[in-house]
Amino acid sequence: MKIHDARSWEREAACAGTDPRLWFGEDDVRESGSDAHRRRENAKAICRTCPVLTDCLVDELLRPHPEQHGIRGATTPGERARILARWRAAGLVPGHASPANADALRALLGEEPRQRTA
Ligand code: SF4
Repeated sequence: MKIHDARSWEREAACAGTDPRLWFGEDDVRESGSDAHRRRENAKAICRTCPVLTDCLVDELLRPHPEQHGIRGATTPGERARILARWRAAGLVPGHASPANADALRALLGEEPRQRTA
């Protein structure tokens, strides 16, 4: 999926090169509730330092089939579902990655519309 500038923001991702297990947990390993909570909070702490947090979150929320696991844009899947519910309540249509929808979602998140290059 492409939004605006072909995901050039991913080059600035603070999670680049980190262990994916921090974001998704370890395959076939059942975490205790406290371990999962600690892992998610550690991942969110990295997200909060990320210069492209909003780009990441908007990209995730505009997917036709949102990721059901893992931390993206300092949110859990449940937190993203609540943002999408607010988006639907505002009369907007999730799952359609137009620049207008991306800007509407940015506004909902309290961000300015993205400057577009021609
Ligand atoms: S907000 Fe988090 S998951 Fe998204 S690119 Fe940044 S560090 Fe990675």
